[in-house]
Amino acid sequence: MDLILFGPPGAGKGTQAKRLVDLLKIPQISTGDMMRAERQAGTEIGKQFDHYMTQGLLVPDELVLSLFGQRLSQPDAKSGAILDGYPRTVAQAEALDALLAARGRKIDRVVSMEVSLAEMIDRVVNRRTCESCGHIYHLRYNPPPSPGLCGQCGGKLVQRKDDSEEVVRKRNQEYLEKTAPILDHYTAKGVVKAVSGVGTLDDVTQRIKSAIGLA
Ligand code: AMP
Repeated sequence: MDLILFGPPGAGKGTQAKRLVDLLKIPQISTGDMMRAERQAGTEIGKQFDHYMTQGLLVPDELVLSLFGQRLSQPDAKSGAILDGYPRTVAQAEALDALLAARGRKIDRVVSMEVSLAEMIDRVVNRRTCESCGHIYHLRYNPPPSPGLCGQCGGKLVQRKDDSEEVVRKRNQEYLEKTAPILDHYTAKGVVKAVSGVGTLDDVTQRIKSAIGLA
């Protein structure tokens, strides 16, 4: 199955994608995580990503396309993937459709996770991410068992540089202008299902499972 978890910043795409990996036995592909790894490694391309990401701007398509294309070609993604944060422009969606078609595949479902702007801001400013395993916490709704430490692997929890209210407002503006039109692209193909992204982690997982025909 090729599934897109779609939604604005803070919708819960990354959190839910990680929960679906075990269930669907296909990998999560997060271009945001891949870009952060390049930044952390201090590579040339990582420095270019940094410039856009810290301002809440989308990274230009030409830098994203090859990064994504290489990842989709890895053996673990040969029978499907859970896409989180890709595609983010109509051009990326068209490139994705072509990459999948070349493999005899297509996007089977786009699950559009809906949350309000107030909810997005609350989630993003209270989000803490494990710098070792990527596990995601919310300081109030899903707190780590010991402050500052990941309950899964003991790694250090950090706040993403772009998880401030000011930057999330910019990210939301980019989402509305450039990313939201993707929904029309996939609605025309009849594969979009909207779910509320508000509620407990289990509630939202359950809604996504229903939207993909698993429950
Ligand atoms: P995310 O981790 O998905 O919230 O992405 C964090 C940031 O990485 C975004 O605000 C963008 O600056 C950049 N980014 C991640 N994925 C993409 C993409 N598919 N296209 C353009 N920029 C991206």
